[in-house]
Formats: sequence, C-alpha cells, structure tokens
Amino acid sequence: MTDARRGLDAEVAVIGLGAIGSSAAWQLAARGVDVVGIEQHEPGHAHGGSTGRTRLFRVACLEHPGLAPIARRARELWRELEASSGQELLLETGGIMIGQPGSRIVEGTLAAAREHGLPVERLDAAEVARRLPAHAALDPGDVGVWDPEAGVLRPEAAIVAAAEAARAAGARIRTGERVLAIEPDDAGVTVRLASDELRVARVVVAAGPWIGRLVPEVPLVPHRVVQTWFAPKEGRDAGIDRLPVFIRSVPGLGGEPRWIWGHGALPGDLVKVGGEFDGPFSADDPDAIDRSLAPGETDELRDQVAATFPDLEPEPAAWTTCIMAHTPDGQFVVGAMDDDRRVVVAGGCSGHSCKHAAALGELAAQAALGEAPTTDVAFLDPRRFAAASGPHPGPDPGGL
Ligand SMILES: Cc1cc2nc3c(=O)[nH]c(=O)nc-3n(C[C@H](O)[C@H](O)[C@H](O)COP(=O)(O)OP(=O)(O)OC[C@H]3O[C@@H](n4cnc5c(N)ncnc54)[C@H](O)[C@@H]3O)c2cc1C
Repeated sequence: MTDARRGLDAEVAVIGLGAIGSSAAWQLAARGVDVVGIEQHEPGHAHGGSTGRTRLFRVACLEHPGLAPIARRARELWRELEASSGQELLLETGGIMIGQPGSRIVEGTLAAAREHGLPVERLDAAEVARRLPAHAALDPGDVGVWDPEAGVLRPEAAIVAAAEAARAAGARIRTGERVLAIEPDDAGVTVRLASDELRVARVVVAAGPWIGRLVPEVPLVPHRVVQTWFAPKEGRDAGIDRLPVFIRSVPGLGGEPRWIWGHGALPGDLVKVGGEFDGPFSADDPDAIDRSLAPGETDELRDQVAATFPDLEPEPAAWTTCIMAHTPDGQFVVGAMDDDRRVVVAGGCSGHSCKHAAALGELAAQAALGEAPTTDVAFLDPRRFAAASGPHPGPDPGGL
C-alpha cells in the first residue's frame, strides 16, 4: 500500500541533514523508501558540528576497535559520492599517531590494527623524525604509529554530495525548516514543524548537537569548540605532504600530556592544528553558542604549536567555532529507541564521527528498516545509557 493510502506523508522522515542525516536520507532513498529529509539550515552550513573544511579520517581508530570496519565502509561510500558528485571528498595522506608507549594514542591505534589486521607500522622516535621531518622535535621516549589509510575528509562538500544523491534517488528535501517535536504512537510518528505537521511511519533523528531537544532520553552534551588554523613562517613548507594527518601527545600548560591533532596545508589553505576536546563539559545551547574568541582561549595551543612546529607562526591565523555532541562513553549513538523502530537516532559525535558519517547514515537506514547492520554496532546502541543513573559523568576525553 502506498504511503498516501496509509495516510502517511512519507515512510521515513530524516531530521537533520548534516554529516550523518544526509547520508541516511541517501541510503533510504537508494533503497526505494519514500523519505523526506528536513534541515533547519541548508546542507553544508556552518552552524553545526560539521563545519571547518576538513576532518581527520583514520581506519585504525584509537577510540574503539569496532570503529575500523565502520571507517572502511564509510570510505567505500565516500568514494561512491565522489563518483556521483565529481568532487574529491576524501584525500588519503596517511597519518601518524605519536605518544608514549602505553598511551591511549599509541595503544588504542595498535589495538584497532591488531583486531582488524590493519597495515599500521610502529616507529621509534628517530624513524618518525627521519620519515616526517615536521615531527623532528620528539621526546626520545615517544613512538609513532603510521596508519597508511588515514587522510582528510571534506565535510561540507560531503554533506552536499550526500543530500544531492538523496534527492537524485527520490528523497524530498525540505530546508530552512526546523522540526519542533516528534510524537511517536502505535501507528507512526507525527513530526511537528512551525507551520506544518507530517505523519510518517518512522523517523531518523540525526540532529547532531540538537538531538537532545527531540530525544531527551539520549544523554548528549552539546559543547562549543574552537577550530584553529596556522600559517607557515615565511619560506617554510608546511603542506600536507610534509605534515600529513597527525595526533600527537605534547606537554600541556602544567606539563601533563595533552593531545594536539591536525594536518598540513591543503593547496590554498592553512595548516590545521587543534587541541584536546576534554571536559568538564557544561551543556551549551547549540542555538546560542558564543561565536567570539575569549581572551587567552588559544594560548595553550599557541604555546604547543610554538614548541612542536618551528615552521609555523604560533599565533592562529584563523579560527571558527563548531559544536560537538558528547556521550558519556565517547562513542556514537546509532539505532532504534524502541522495539517498533519508530524513532531511530544517529549522532553523538563525541568529536570523531565525521569520517564514519556515510556509514553511520547507512546504519541508521538499516536500523529504521529492520535490516541487518553492515557491521557490528552493539556498542553504539542508543539505549545503552538507559540503565545508567546520576549526572552525566563527562565524556571520554579525546577523539577525532
Ligand atoms: C572542532 C571539531 C573537530 C572535529 N574533528 C573531527 C575529525 O577530525 N574527524 C572526525 O571524524 N570527526 C571530527 N569531528 C566530529 C564531526 O565533525 C562531527 O561529529 C560530525 O560531523 C557531526 O555530524 P552530525 O551529522 O551528527 O551533526 P551535524 O553535521 O551537526 O548535523 C546535524 C544537522 O541537524 C540539523 N538540525 C538539528 N536540529 C534540527 C531540527 N530540529 N530540525 C531540522 N534540522 C535540524 C542541523 O542544522 C544540522 O545540519 C570534529 C568535530 C568538531 C566540532
């Protein structure tokens, strides 16, 4: 029976067409599902979690070994979107993860590689410096793990490409409209908009830092983050070939180990270097985050850049704000909130979901349709927090 004959406006509504939602809409439409995608801004906008021109892509994901197959599936889907859009979305440069033996950067990367037979290489400090002179000033005790499958993803272009692929496959895309509420019942879900309401069989809520507004049972903390870019000193080369993707442990203000991450300049762009995403986090209102830079806000990073990369001017040459959505355990949420699959959520970026977004969109589509997931995602079940009580403990630090 058609959706209209069942009194439905669509089979599935995807709420939020950011990194994950645009892919969910694409995957649903590609399966022949009658889908409507609703986005409060325009795909590729600068107000959410996916702005800033690049995101690190890694397969040997230190955050959880279960993420490696998701990254590999995402890479296949990014390549499909490159073919359909004619744009380069994922540039594989290789990447180096540097820290002390036993540190999470090193051991997490090695654990993912071991579990999935990934072709990483463990290098001592001298070998890192020989291969990557931009990392010459290493602590002699440091080691590096080279992930040849790492690279950078272009998030805004990827989102636009996925939204276009969704449209081409038959999805209806509504932009500039905010979903105010979702009301599930036994027969479907009512989706309330400012001037309209839709009746659908199920919803995929991929609203990024705004998920908590629509599905408050998912304990997400939206959090403001500043992204920073640095210029090379006069006559110095800081291109991405010389400084490929990296995550590196360096001393913080008090001498304690802290992470920095980034990559060298893409043609016509600056060097991206960011600091650790750590707590304690207080929830920021995603609609009212402070888009200005507070005095001293980038001082720690400036000092770390000065100490780590002598080829860079240490004061940031550019910056912008962005919003993350942290979960208590630092892993994403993908799956149904109820046994009837009326409400599926996909998000909880915790600072590292963009690389996976194409695959997370597919997993959300599979969850909505009751299909078997492409990869094992039990560790991303959004209902895993239901048994937990007490205040949000703050996220697992780090993650890209
Ligand atoms: C500074 C920074 C650095 C990062 N670095 C990395 C990295 O190196 N590698 C990596 O893999 N990940 C990284 N991440 C994480 C990654 O970029 C984000 O997690 C991911 O892009 C978020 O995707 P999303 O689809 O969940 O959210 P978004 O892309 O924010 O999409 C949510 C969408 O929902 C829309 N929306 C919300 N509410 C509504 C509503 N009620 N009605 C209609 N539309 C709505 C929003 O407008 C938005 O477009 C980083 C994040 C930040 C902030």
